[in-house]
Amino acid sequence: MERFSPTLTDSERADLVALRRDFHRHPELGFQETRTMGVIAERLRALGLEPRTGVAGTGVVAVMDSGRPGPTLLLRSDMDALPVTEVADRAYRSETEGVMHACGHDGHMATLLTAAAVLRRLGEPKRGRLKLVFQPAEEGEGGAEHMIAEGVLADPPVDAALALHYWSQLPTGEAAVVAGPFMASVDDFTIRVIGQGGHAAMPHEVPDALVAGAAVVTALQTIVSRRTNPMLPVVVTVGAFHAGHAFNVIADKAVLRGTCRAFDEEVWLSLPGHVERVAKAAAEVHGCTVEVEFQRLHRAVVNDAEMTAHVRETVAGLLGEDSIAELRTMGGEDVSEYLSRVPGCFFFVGSGDAAKGTMAPHHSAAFDLDEDALPIGCELLVRLARDYLAGED
Ligand SMILES: [Zn+2]
Ligand SMILES: [Zn+2]
Repeated sequence: MERFSPTLTDSERADLVALRRDFHRHPELGFQETRTMGVIAERLRALGLEPRTGVAGTGVVAVMDSGRPGPTLLLRSDMDALPVTEVADRAYRSETEGVMHACGHDGHMATLLTAAAVLRRLGEPKRGRLKLVFQPAEEGEGGAEHMIAEGVLADPPVDAALALHYWSQLPTGEAAVVAGPFMASVDDFTIRVIGQGGHAAMPHEVPDALVAGAAVVTALQTIVSRRTNPMLPVVVTVGAFHAGHAFNVIADKAVLRGTCRAFDEEVWLSLPGHVERVAKAAAEVHGCTVEVEFQRLHRAVVNDAEMTAHVRETVAGLLGEDSIAELRTMGGEDVSEYLSRVPGCFFFVGSGDAAKGTMAPHHSAAFDLDEDALPIGCELLVRLARDYLAGED
């Protein structure tokens, strides 16, 4: 893979993989990344930087300052693992039962740390500042929002942000770099359907929360098919449905949990209203009432046109024009919290290789990174940072 990472030395490439395996062996869940934080801080100190630790609990921020005027570029890596039990018997298998780096965040941390080391060796940045952000709790717990609340976009103020995600559904050697909406917004809802318990043989006497809940599940799909513009993608998924406890008792309540996804801001804003109205009406037909709790997790990832053009040019320069895939996904990422405040680009670096068995979906127990993708990601970050903060005088 030297061909795709000419700036890295052999020892940097080896260190990148070793570091990723170390993180992989010691996964930690969101806001519990204390060992991870320690390793990151130690690495940054070894580069002569003064990392701030404990940001949003377990986050780390370090600034590489050229000492010369210029913009500040933020590079972000997430840190958290998932409550998944690793199935494969690899040398670097998770040593914590029930916890696994099943999304590749181990690779992101190793990549950003190695990129920082390479940039340091090259005497970069030439102007402005590079802000290295290691963010806890990306997996649905609002890590990005907490980091921003603790001032990660200020002091020094950030002008632009970049982040990558390794992507197993994309072959190694390819990248997905798309301007505009790239990943969907993520909302989480809970609907409580309230009926009245009774005898299973006398259904006419009480409102049945289970039947009403089933009607709500079905009716919610009409938000996508009838209520929103078909040109604008939306997903409504009910992922959990709990009701009843016995074969001969009518359920007095049903609890549904689900998620909505959208690209378009206007559609996103309309979703809580749709869910509430549809759930209420569908339950009412069956004599039941509902309580709807709607939680916004994060908005859609929308890439800035200019920053995306910069990334596309860099990717094309390293991997070739036809390496760029026009892929978008209804999955979400809290990197949108940064990108809705400063111009930036979030992109996928392919890490799927069928022969190596690294095409399992993210979050699955069989997930693994193609380690040949790591130097590619690292080289891209190095080039992007160097070019963005290149001396102009
Ligand atoms: Zn994930
Ligand atoms: Zn992820």
